[in-house]
Amino acid sequence: MNIFRKAVDTILPPKCSVCSKLAASSEGIGISLPEGMNLCFDCLSDIVPNPVDKRWMLCLSEPYSEDPYPSLALYMPFNYEGFFSRAVPVMKFQSRREIASFMGNILGELMKSDGITGDLIVPVALSRARLLERGFNQAGAIAESVSSVMGIPAAEDVLIRTRETLRQTEIVDKMNRGANVDRAFAVNDEWDIKGNKIILIDDVATTGNTLHSAAQALYEAGAASVLCCAVCGNRYSSNAEVF
Ligand SMILES: [Zn+2]
Repeated sequence: MNIFRKAVDTILPPKCSVCSKLAASSEGIGISLPEGMNLCFDCLSDIVPNPVDKRWMLCLSEPYSEDPYPSLALYMPFNYEGFFSRAVPVMKFQSRREIASFMGNILGELMKSDGITGDLIVPVALSRARLLERGFNQAGAIAESVSSVMGIPAAEDVLIRTRETLRQTEIVDKMNRGANVDRAFAVNDEWDIKGNKIILIDDVATTGNTLHSAAQALYEAGAASVLCCAVCGNRYSSNAEVF
């Protein structure tokens, strides 16, 4: 922290980037915060990852019999509740990149301690329209932090969103959610990912359809393996059990 920032903090104590309560002192909280990010004690104490055996699941919450990649795995260490249910909307709708970087730091640390490895980290792509609306791809910012924590390169332009899709939350009909993201991604011609172990990153996973569709494009372009990773999500359906 620079001297100026320290002086300002003394006069005006920083507010939590997520809930605006008085932030905890950045010293001695035992967690590295990106520049511009502050957290209060309530938010900090709310960041509790699931037990190791509850971080792994099948990518699709509703598997279907013709799925060409039925054993596609999802690593997702947090539930969408508490801290994450407050932080994700602030990150997305107020375009707060530092929150995405912070989530990438904690995701990367957990992935590292759980022994995850790979050749290339690839974030799920946003559509052009959504990128313009939001100003940044939150999955890209998360992937960048995961990359620096794990020491594995990340590339934001590997996946291309080929088709506009409605927000998953806007589609009420469960069956149509899968169809909505089907063939929504392609791999950029400028990348040769043949034989690579890809770590695919998104912020939130619900049905797993978006990650599944992106993984399919990566496999079709020759990836040796794809591991889907999301920071948080909720699983109440058939394959919530660990496999
Ligand atoms: Zn807070």
